[in-house]
Amino acid sequence: MKRYDVLIVGGGPAGSTLAWALRDAALSVAVLDKRDFPRDKVCAGWVTPAVMQELAVDLDDYRREGRVLQAIHGFRVGLLGAPEVETRYGEEPVSYGIRRFEFDEYLLHRAGECGAELLTGTAFKGMRREGDHWIVNDELEARVVVGAGGHFCPVARAMGAKPGRSERIVAAQEIEFPMTAEQAAACPVDPAIPELFFTPDLAGYGWIFRKGDYLNIGLGREDNHQLSRHVAEFVRHLKARGRIPDATPEKFHGHAYLLYPHAPRPLVDDGRLLIGDAAGLAYPQSGEGIRPAVESALLAARTLRECAGDFSRARLEAYRQRMEERFGRRQPAPGLLERLPAGLKQAVAARLLRSPWFARNVVMDRWFLHSHQPPLAADTRPAA
Ligand SMILES: Cc1cc2nc3c(=O)[nH]c(=O)nc-3n(C[C@H](O)[C@H](O)[C@H](O)COP(=O)(O)OP(=O)(O)OC[C@H]3O[C@@H](n4cnc5c(N)ncnc54)[C@H](O)[C@@H]3O)c2cc1C
Repeated sequence: MKRYDVLIVGGGPAGSTLAWALRDAALSVAVLDKRDFPRDKVCAGWVTPAVMQELAVDLDDYRREGRVLQAIHGFRVGLLGAPEVETRYGEEPVSYGIRRFEFDEYLLHRAGECGAELLTGTAFKGMRREGDHWIVNDELEARVVVGAGGHFCPVARAMGAKPGRSERIVAAQEIEFPMTAEQAAACPVDPAIPELFFTPDLAGYGWIFRKGDYLNIGLGREDNHQLSRHVAEFVRHLKARGRIPDATPEKFHGHAYLLYPHAPRPLVDDGRLLIGDAAGLAYPQSGEGIRPAVESALLAARTLRECAGDFSRARLEAYRQRMEERFGRRQPAPGLLERLPAGLKQAVAARLLRSPWFARNVVMDRWFLHSHQPPLAADTRPAA
């Protein structure tokens, strides 16, 4: 039996950030992931500078070894089929494009260098309570188990989550591929200006995002109905307008996630807590999930440090309170805007999305860049 203070199930951005944030905490930490790294993850790979700051990532170090770090200086935004509005910012990048294949491996490797034991290529099979600790897979003992296994996290399921049932998911499909030299030369998409297309029914949006010579195309919707048809229509539209190569691969990869306000998942339990997609934390309008995953990990690290070895539900409750202070209270019922008649919403949105002021101040600054929210401190040690 191997023994740890903290066992983190899932080595994506949430899990690796928590392991890294617990460095020097006098806690033994292990990260269990069913995959070997590097591994792919369905994602557009768009992160704001706030995320890099919260992770204390040295951008020059990150770029070393040829990792993709595409600086973004603006956006084109519009309703699918209508003219787009272009917003440009200044010299400083307002976002970065990363490849999850590289980003996740970089963060997990760093967590390992900081002392966490990396148990990759090992799936979580089950957990049982024995006294005041958990036994996982019949061979790992932990005083606290953190579910960081993404939307289908097995720890979240053990805590009562029911993915696919009674949850309002966002379903998304995406493809990322390296363009050939001819495709790259012919591609009109500016790597510094990703393009966003809201669907006419406002149930979601599609994107084209060029990162160097990689092209990332995708579409996500709040209703899972006929997603593949919506994606196929989007791709046809982009091809007809010459925005993407005719030979764009057809096999898109799908995944799901939950938006924070409606996610019915618990955050804490006796000796267990959930972070990242396992807890259902994505921002409502953009679906961005990496920043909430990183922030939840930082808030969890602060809480675990304060627990002084007592990981009872009462002590872990501080994490839930911190999450509410940061992300607000969850609202299981639809909000006022969501209850407006669809026709009215669409008519108003069509007008607003033609407005450069709205595109910049609301869609980009507020919904996608979250520039109103200062980053959390990367240092999770209690104040002296
Ligand atoms: C199409 C699409 C596009 C997106 N684009 C963006 C974007 O541009 N920017 C952004 O911020 N967010 C984006 N998101 C959301 C983002 O991908 C997630 O919010 C983010 O990956 C959450 O990180 P995480 O660490 O919680 O989970 P994950 O990254 O999903 O990591 C979970 C880990 O748990 C492991 N795991 C799962 N089950 C088990 C098991 N049984 N045993 C052991 N290990 C297990 C997995 O192998 C995985 O490594 C997008 C999502 C989708 C679907």
